[in-house]
Amino acid sequence: MSSESEKFRVYAHQFVDWMADYMDNVEQYPVKSQVSPGAIYHQIGSCIPDEGERIEEIFEDFKKVIIPGVTHWQSPNFFAYFQANTSSPSILAEMLMATLGVQGMKWDTSPASTELEEKMMEWLRDAMALPKNWTGVIQDTASTATLASIITAREQRSDYQVNTKGFEGFTHFRVYCSEQTHSSIEKGVKIAGIGKENLVKITTDERLAMDADVLLESIKHDITHGHHPLCVVAAIGTTGTLAMDPLKKIVEICKKYNIWLHVDAAYAGSAFLLPEYQYLTDGLEGADSFVFNPHKWLFTNFDCSAYFVKDKEALVNTFAILPEYLKTKTDGLVANHCDWGIPLGRRFRSLKLWFVLRHYGLKGLQEKLRFHIELTQWLENEIVESSEFELAVPRSMNLVCFYYRPSSLKNKSIEAQNSLNEQLLHQLNRSGKIYLTHTKVNDVFVLRISIGQTHVQLSHIRKAWEFIQQTAKLIS
Ligand SMILES: *Cc1c(COP(=O)(O)O)cnc(C)c1O
Repeated sequence: MSSESEKFRVYAHQFVDWMADYMDNVEQYPVKSQVSPGAIYHQIGSCIPDEGERIEEIFEDFKKVIIPGVTHWQSPNFFAYFQANTSSPSILAEMLMATLGVQGMKWDTSPASTELEEKMMEWLRDAMALPKNWTGVIQDTASTATLASIITAREQRSDYQVNTKGFEGFTHFRVYCSEQTHSSIEKGVKIAGIGKENLVKITTDERLAMDADVLLESIKHDITHGHHPLCVVAAIGTTGTLAMDPLKKIVEICKKYNIWLHVDAAYAGSAFLLPEYQYLTDGLEGADSFVFNPHKWLFTNFDCSAYFVKDKEALVNTFAILPEYLKTKTDGLVANHCDWGIPLGRRFRSLKLWFVLRHYGLKGLQEKLRFHIELTQWLENEIVESSEFELAVPRSMNLVCFYYRPSSLKNKSIEAQNSLNEQLLHQLNRSGKIYLTHTKVNDVFVLRISIGQTHVQLSHIRKAWEFIQQTAKLIS
């Protein structure tokens, strides 16, 4: 083979064949990688090879060495954490993105990247019934979006003085979230210089949603003790159990005390494409920012996090930079997305959304999301009807949290039950047949099943449920 492009064509076709086979056969692999620590590391050469190698050899090693160390997130038997699903339109767009290899940091560095991103954020905003006057921008992750939010709140509150002079005079900020909110909030608070001791974790009610009365009391208490309440992060869909914080009440509190409200709907946000779930955004127009991840439950491969803000100027004033080498003739006329967040360089992620949203259409997306929720309802019913399993909290959207409590445990402690459930989880995951993760609900160890894989069918859920019951019998 002569030219670079001819070789590329041949390999690319081989790879695409492998990719399509993978999609067909993904269920044949153990869903959770079964390797032990170090197994992959020790199979990789100790330095960069002196002489270049052929793609064939590298590809063979990919299959032989790498694949056994892969956990198959796209398997319909993957029920762990939350999904990070993908789809063929997304993968096809990713191929084009990689080929173009553009940086979308400024409008000038690729106008299509900026403008398609603007349009895709409008499509999502409108389809999800988010406030019309909000502006969206793609971030890499919800963690970054939440950090951007806390920093913007800090700058708006300090009149951009912390960015300019440092913290002097602005040392008593407080941030609030519930005990159930994602670890990214604490990380954000640390990075933003607020200090994790100034993150107040509000207790939750019996459904594990933030107790708004306790929030109000904490804020009042902090004010009388010389703190400055800066930001509240409310979760619509917590990571443990998809609990929904009471948005309307929280909005009222934030309004009254002039506190920035950031809403984290990283996983559950996709469901706002369904009119029957849009009531959960009631009051959102009173918040300041909102994030959800199309890279979780919207068929768009990682990374793609949709971040929306009410006050675009505050965001841009916080992050804008303009060194000489970045100046262009269009500055001031167009959006330069490097000023809308932390990194300078930006991938052309809107291309994936454009392919996914157009290919499925709103109806197709809604059908898939509703189907996932129906499958979860089916499983919820099975659990409710079973005499040996119990729901830990009521099902929320496409997540069920449950535990095993056979009659043999009747007079036994919670510790005994927890240890049995931990053992059950371990056995299930070790089998390679299904993959789930756990959380704790009021000191009870509970198994979580999240059902949002792109191609999951009822047959997978039936098989998983049978397997869970069989395995449970064997260990009890
Ligand atoms: C997954 C998740 C996050 C973190 O998302 P990243 O995009 O991985 O940073 C934050 N909050 C909630 C509620 C989540 O479910």
